[in-house]
Amino acid sequence: MSALFPTYQRFPIVVERAEGTKLMAKDGKEYLDFVAGIAVCNLGHRHPAVQKAIETQLNQVWHVSNLFQIPLQEETAKKLTQHCDGDVVFFCNSGAEANEAALKLARKHTGRSKVITFRQSFHGRTFATMSATGQAKIYEGFGPLLQEFIHLPFNDVEALEKEMDETVATIMVEVVQGEGGVVPAEQTFLEKVEALCKQYGALFIVDEVQTGIGRTGKPFAYQHFSVSPDIITIAKGLGSGFPIGAMIGKQFLASSFGPGVHGSTFGGNPLAVAAANATIDIVFDSNFLRDVEEKGEYFKQALTEALADVDIVHEVRGLGLMIGIACKEAVANILPKIHERGLLVLSAGPNVIRLLPPLTVTKEELNTAVQILKESLAACNIVSQS
Ligand SMILES: *Cc1c(COP(=O)(O)O)cnc(C)c1O
Repeated sequence: MSALFPTYQRFPIVVERAEGTKLMAKDGKEYLDFVAGIAVCNLGHRHPAVQKAIETQLNQVWHVSNLFQIPLQEETAKKLTQHCDGDVVFFCNSGAEANEAALKLARKHTGRSKVITFRQSFHGRTFATMSATGQAKIYEGFGPLLQEFIHLPFNDVEALEKEMDETVATIMVEVVQGEGGVVPAEQTFLEKVEALCKQYGALFIVDEVQTGIGRTGKPFAYQHFSVSPDIITIAKGLGSGFPIGAMIGKQFLASSFGPGVHGSTFGGNPLAVAAANATIDIVFDSNFLRDVEEKGEYFKQALTEALADVDIVHEVRGLGLMIGIACKEAVANILPKIHERGLLVLSAGPNVIRLLPPLTVTKEELNTAVQILKESLAACNIVSQS
C-alpha cells in the first residue's frame, strides 16, 4: 500500500535521469518529454546555466528569510519588471500563492470584494484560488467557497459587460486557458476586460502561471495583445523546476502591500531566485523568444497538416509552444498509447491532448512528435461511430 495520499493518478513511469528534452526511465526506456513537468522545465531538464547558478548559490547561502536583504531577489525582480508592464514583485513558492497574493492585493487596494473569473479557468487549489477556479471538479465537496467569486463564460464580452459595476475588485483571466483545454483568449475580449477594469476602477489580473516565461514566444503571453494588466502572476516556468512563484504589479499598488501586510517564509529564497535569475537571462533573450515563436508556428502547422484526415481529431490550437489537440472524445485511454511510442504528453480537460515541449526543443524532436501523434491518433477508432 502506498504511503502517499492518492491525489494523483500517476503514469507508470519512474524517471531516473533527465537531460534536455529526454527522460530516461528505470526500465531503460527513453522518452521525448512534452510534459516538461507541466510547463515547468521550459529550458529542458537540468539546463547547465541554471544548474550552475543553483550550485554556486548552494555553496554560499541557502536561506535567510525575508527579514534580510537579498540582492539576488532585487536583481531578479528588476529583470522581470524590465520585460513587462509591472514595476514591483512579490516572490512566493507556487502559482496558487502568486494568485492568492494577487487576489488579496486586489481586495486590499480597492476596498471591494467581488472577483470575476471565467468558466473552465484554473487558478489553483487554495481556498481563494479554488473559489476563483471555474471548474466544479476542482471545488466540489469543499464548500462553502469564499464569497463573491463569480464565474462568467470565457470570451463572452456581453456577459462581462452585464456583470461589471463599481463593486468589482478585480477581473482575473488566463491569456490561454491551460488546464481548461488550451483555449486562447480573444483580442476583443481581453481589450474589453482591460477597458471595463479602467472604467470601474477594478484591477486587471492576468494569470500567467502557465503561459508566462516564454511559453508562448513572448516573455508574457498578454504581450501578444495590446493590453496592459495591473497584476501578472507567474510560477511554473520561472525556476526551471526549482519551486518559485511571483506576483508582479504596477507601481501604484506598492503602497497597498506595505510591511507586515503579506508575507512568505520561503518566498524568494536565495536558491529559488538563483534558479529564476539564470532562467530568465536565457528565456528573455529576443533571439531565444523569436525561435520559440517560430518553432510554435512550425509545430502547430505540422500537426494541423498531419492530423487533418484523422477522424478523432477536432482541432489543433494554441499559442507558441503551448498546443492542444482537441479530440472528439475522451483522451484518457489514448495517452498511454502515445507514451508507449516514446512521447510523453498530458491532457487538458477530458478531450484535449496538451503538448508542452521544453522551449529548447529541436525541430527534429518536433518532427518525431508529429509522427508519433499521427500514428497513435490514426490508430484510434471513434467509439461513437464504430
Ligand atoms: C498550474 C496553474 C496554477 C497553480 O499553480 P500551482 O503552482 O500548482 O499552485 C494557477 N494558474 C494557472 C493558470 C496554472 O496553470
